[in-house]
Amino acid sequence: MQELFFLLLPVAALYGWYMGVRSVHQKKQKKGNKLSRDYVQGLNFLLSDQPDKAVDHFIALLEVDNETIETHLALGNLFRQRGEVERAIRIHQNLIARPSLTLEQRDLALLQLGKDFYQAGLFDRSEETFVQLKASPEYQEVALENLLLIYQQLKEWKDAVRVTESLYKLSKGTKKRRTLSYLYCSLADQFKNPSDDKQKIKLYQKALTVFPNCMRANIALCDYYILQNKPQKALQILQSIPELDIDFTEVILDRLLKLHQQQGSEQELIGYLYSIVSIGAGASAVILLAELIAKYHGIEKAQEFMLQELRRNTTMKGFNHLMTYHLQLAQSISEKESLTFLQKLVSEQIKLRPKYRCQKCGYSSKKLYWQCPSCKNWGRIKPIRGLDGE
Ligand SMILES: [Zn+2]
Repeated sequence: MQELFFLLLPVAALYGWYMGVRSVHQKKQKKGNKLSRDYVQGLNFLLSDQPDKAVDHFIALLEVDNETIETHLALGNLFRQRGEVERAIRIHQNLIARPSLTLEQRDLALLQLGKDFYQAGLFDRSEETFVQLKASPEYQEVALENLLLIYQQLKEWKDAVRVTESLYKLSKGTKKRRTLSYLYCSLADQFKNPSDDKQKIKLYQKALTVFPNCMRANIALCDYYILQNKPQKALQILQSIPELDIDFTEVILDRLLKLHQQQGSEQELIGYLYSIVSIGAGASAVILLAELIAKYHGIEKAQEFMLQELRRNTTMKGFNHLMTYHLQLAQSISEKESLTFLQKLVSEQIKLRPKYRCQKCGYSSKKLYWQCPSCKNWGRIKPIRGLDGE
């Protein structure tokens, strides 16, 4: 009997092992089945438009299983994208509160929570979250980018400059040059007192060191020199602008004409305008030049010049201006009447069209913004080119 007992022992052990494995497997399967059942139930709440019940349900599930963190992150993002920020915040906050989270998972959840707060307009809490996230080397850059969005939104230019400088340094000067230069200008524009002029000018110059094509800094410096009664310095800056970016010529023409008029050097301006028109300065420069030709050499010459330029670059603006000359030279009353009518139509069309467009997102406006109100990029809005524009 004892022998039989010893003989059966390994069999019993083997049986015990088999049953053990089977039971673990069954438990896992059971748990898996329960989890997927629970998830389906959660999804049902979502689909039947009971999102609060769904959130409660999913948060309860979170307590159960650690493997579903990715799903919760995705779910939170989904709520945020649907504009249901409070629900997204609840999900992400519950995730972060879990002690068993790995560092990587915690950072991921922090990033999403910071975005939730930003979208909810809770900028101080969003800032806090991203400052915390900034400590993680892997998420430092993305945290700084998000902090920049917050400071820009709040027009806290000093802080915006500080984080952009960090991003600039992180990329070893390859990224954020344009943004940084425009932000230096925003900071400079806050100095309204003449006693702060030195600091202000230093910032504009700093902007140009980082990014020489910064139109805002160039124009601000030019305006400063005009105020200081230093027209030569102002002219020097203005004349450098078409060389830096020919598309911005339209922005400087009023200042250019005024300065030359003050200096009594309009004739000199004619030569300069010829040189920039030949490299594609656009319709406004052509029109200003035509006006000066008309003033100094007669309407026929101006009309001839406009026609020739319109053949090279057809624009509504140019056509409208050409009609002014046709009108002045028209002989009969009926010709004058029909030309006046036509010009009125074209003028109204031009007035309706936007003048500027963002090169990044296509946002268009009648006003020149240094920062695009839509995509938030700096220095990307330019005068529109082509038939409708320059
Ligand atoms: Zn844009």
